[in-house]
Amino acid sequence: MTDPRSGVPDRRTGRGLRVPPPVGVRLTTRQRLGATGGIAGIVMLLGLLTYGGIASIRSARANVIATHRSIEATQSVLQDITNAETGQRGFLLTADERYLQPYNSALNRLAADTALLRGFVGTDALQTRQLDSLSGRIGVKLAELAQTITLMRTKGADAARSVVDSDGGQHAMDDIRGLLRSIAARQQNLLDQRIAESDRYYLIVEVIVVGGTISAVVIALMLNTLLTRFANAQADAARRLDAQNVELSDSNHKLAEQTVELELQNQQLQDQAVELESQQLHLQEQASELEMQSEELSSTVEELQQQTVMAEEARAVAEEATKRAEEANRAKSLFLTTMSHELRTPLNAIGGYVDLLALEIRGPLVDMQREDLRRIKKSGQHLLSLINDILNLAKIESGQLDLNIREVPLASVFENVDTLVASQFNAKGISYVYPRCDPTLHVRADSDKLQQILLNVLSNACKFTDEGGLVTVECDADGVSESSNPESVAITIRDTGRGIAQDKLEKIFEPFVQIDRHLTGVSQQGVGLGLAISRDLARSMSGDLVAESVAGVGTTFVLTIPRANGVSAQRSSESARGSTDPISTAP
Ligand code: ADP
Repeated sequence: MTDPRSGVPDRRTGRGLRVPPPVGVRLTTRQRLGATGGIAGIVMLLGLLTYGGIASIRSARANVIATHRSIEATQSVLQDITNAETGQRGFLLTADERYLQPYNSALNRLAADTALLRGFVGTDALQTRQLDSLSGRIGVKLAELAQTITLMRTKGADAARSVVDSDGGQHAMDDIRGLLRSIAARQQNLLDQRIAESDRYYLIVEVIVVGGTISAVVIALMLNTLLTRFANAQADAARRLDAQNVELSDSNHKLAEQTVELELQNQQLQDQAVELESQQLHLQEQASELEMQSEELSSTVEELQQQTVMAEEARAVAEEATKRAEEANRAKSLFLTTMSHELRTPLNAIGGYVDLLALEIRGPLVDMQREDLRRIKKSGQHLLSLINDILNLAKIESGQLDLNIREVPLASVFENVDTLVASQFNAKGISYVYPRCDPTLHVRADSDKLQQILLNVLSNACKFTDEGGLVTVECDADGVSESSNPESVAITIRDTGRGIAQDKLEKIFEPFVQIDRHLTGVSQQGVGLGLAISRDLARSMSGDLVAESVAGVGTTFVLTIPRANGVSAQRSSESARGSTDPISTAP
């Protein structure tokens, strides 16, 4: 339904939607009454005029007929008089009574015809007077006729003729004829007037009929136009109504759908309201919980503030300790450097004297003495290398290590290293395979330190691989291995030695750590500094050294060194693919 105040239609039923009235179709009651009454009035007026005209014609026609009859009546009266005279003349001539037959008949008709004529003349004063005169003259004539007849019967023909010859009857007859002509002429005149009047009425009626017909045709045409417009307007209105009906049914349909949708939304809103209520309850619980937590937090914050104060104090202590440790470290490095220098001088002297003795400059030696000197020399060298390692480590840790970083051709590094280690692998019966590197492949490194790292790792591979084993070196210049990137070169040293347990892998890079020392021969013993120094050196040159191993299967070390600028990975790898057949050293 429509909201009476707002005029908004009911969305559920669609009722209340306003349908506009058809334009130009509706007439007001006054217009309708005016149109209908006007037409009826015109028709009625025409009818009345026509009726009046016809009535006038009928009246005029009756007058004309009456006039005709009155003229006929004058002729009948004259005929009656003439017949009576004719009968009288025949009787006077023949004395035969049979000749009086017309006379008697005329007498019988004359009264009636005279009365008829008087009736037609009516109230016309002149004619009434003429009729009165006529009646008098007819009376005279009839008396003359009757007299002659009576004389004929009683006195004979001569008596009768004498009366006739007196011309009294003839004069009466002439008067009668004159009066009747006058009456007839006047009647004829009346007849002409009445015919003219009748013709006028006919003309009027014709005008009314023709005018009425034309008016009727015009009114009919106007009515037809109006009705056509009305019918067209009605048809338009019907079409619009149909369209509006369709629109309304569509609207109803849509409204019904919207109603269903609204009900669904309403239901959802109700569900959400319920959910919101429960969430509100939950939030209230959480709020109270949060309040409790807030209180706890406040106390925690207080605790933390206390701890922060304590931490500040601890940090100050730690800074003090760090300072002391750094001083101690510097003192240690200074001590190690000094001690290394002090130890190397006598060791070198010992080595020199051992050489002098071995060359038998001081006198000939026996075999046992020669063997002793060899052992002294070897122990001295071992001690010297140990001292060098300690000195290196000390320098690295104290940041005093001098590095000569430059672009180094990797191929020459491998050749130098091969020269130094090939004999070791041969002596121990281990196969050694190393790559023939692309001559254009350069790395940014200190050449000596890079060689030192490779020598150390390869020496370990030789040391911890049994006879018949295999040691391979691969050079990944493409940056395709997982552990490398295009900006660096990855050198992989893989052996088939005893391997290292997983949990010990990271420990081997710590100083002075040796795994399963008892398994290593005395001659091969080190001090556990090689890998620590090697990783530190690699990292000092922006590279790294990592290890993977499976105990009992073998160990793999991957050394990454920055690639030299200006030599692209692609070019290096293309060159490498074309010329890096590995070099194998059979045991
Ligand atoms: P050193 O060799 O002088 O003992 P390193 O630092 O070079 O000291 O090596 C530390 C330890 O790591 C070695 O003692 C050894 O136990 C282990 N190690 C190193 N390289 C290998 C290898 N290739 N195979 C098995 N173990 C190894």
